[in-house]
Amino acid sequence: MDSRLQKKTRLFIGLIVFLVVCSCFGIYYYSSEQAPYFEPEAAIEPHIETPRLPVEQLYPQTIPNQSTFYTVLRGLNVDAQSIHQIVTATKPVMDLGRLSSGTRFRLKYEGSDLTGIDFRFSAIEKLELKKVNGTWSAQKISEKVDTKIISFKGIVSSSLWESSEAADMDPYLVVQLAEIFGWQVDFAREVRVNDRWRLTVEQKYVGAEPVGWGNILAANYENAGQVHSAVFFQAEGQPPGYFAANGDSLRRMFLKSPIQYGKVTSRFNRRRFHPILKIARPHLGVDYGAPTGTPIRAVGGGTVSLAAWSGGGGRTVKINHNSYYRTSYLHMSRFGSGIRAGAKVQQGQIIGYVGTSGLSTGPHLHFEFWSGGKVVDPLGQKFPTADPVPPKFMAEFRQVSEKQLAALPGWESVVPNVQALSSSSTSPED
Ligand SMILES: [Zn+2]
Repeated sequence: MDSRLQKKTRLFIGLIVFLVVCSCFGIYYYSSEQAPYFEPEAAIEPHIETPRLPVEQLYPQTIPNQSTFYTVLRGLNVDAQSIHQIVTATKPVMDLGRLSSGTRFRLKYEGSDLTGIDFRFSAIEKLELKKVNGTWSAQKISEKVDTKIISFKGIVSSSLWESSEAADMDPYLVVQLAEIFGWQVDFAREVRVNDRWRLTVEQKYVGAEPVGWGNILAANYENAGQVHSAVFFQAEGQPPGYFAANGDSLRRMFLKSPIQYGKVTSRFNRRRFHPILKIARPHLGVDYGAPTGTPIRAVGGGTVSLAAWSGGGGRTVKINHNSYYRTSYLHMSRFGSGIRAGAKVQQGQIIGYVGTSGLSTGPHLHFEFWSGGKVVDPLGQKFPTADPVPPKFMAEFRQVSEKQLAALPGWESVVPNVQALSSSSTSPED
């Protein structure tokens, strides 16, 4: 395979994983875990891969599909009477008859005598069985979890995804990063060569073994020279969230775009020559070219006021976000499930799929944004923000914010004279 093709394949796979994970996570970036926001004394360490024995080596035995613990032990020449004793002794703690296939364990011997069995359910949850003076006993163990704060940084040469690969960062974290700044940067259309990012994140350990991620504590994303900051903060009794250095929420009332992947093929233009009608007619929305079937998201929460065929607009959905803002989505191939007049929708919910119904030259979404009864250019709007840090927590937030942002690693240096990312073409519109 030639290297350009390989690169394209990698990017494509990256994109698919990104899309799948995004749709799984929805638009929420709040962590369900209530981790402490910051330990001022904790050292921030660069990311280093710790060599460790694979779990398969530490716990060589496993319960295969369609098998039981009993069958496996019999296969390992443990006699039926011993197995009965083991299962009986463990009953108060766990029913070994109900262990699921794939559970890993190891046997311990003294000479030819079986004296212990260790189960590993996860990096954190274990079960130890011991035989002392001929009697079996069982103990559940929850490993102590330590948290370290580590950092990553990167610079874009072809995509955000590629820059995270180059930084050897877990794909989970790049998805988190994209969600944190999803209201500030349209990662499908606005990423530029030499965009830079950096972050600190909690990594959880059992001993020397990394067992998962906590929260991203602070991050910067520099987009076309403009630096966006995010600080994780949770005041007492408040939901956790990401805030700019001044305490504004990074969340907006509206998403930057109803289509995650797809190009802007025709912009808002009050004096445009219509491609089909061949007359001067304003284009009062933004067209996104994307394959038929691409999901269309509600840019904000609200109530569907129309989900029906609407003349030249074809299959059209209209949403009232409140008495002031509404949005329209035209030319759909079909509507999202449950989308009908009167239905309540949430921000990011799929309301339909790209098509070319009505008056249209190819598969695309025509998107309109209405503000106070007037149609406006959605790409030119500054959308209202979600709630900022409450005033009574501002002093606490400032302290956290200053520390967090100061703890970020240095930026990657910019590479001069690199080729720009491919610019958008113009095709389907109406
Ligand atoms: Zn249009």
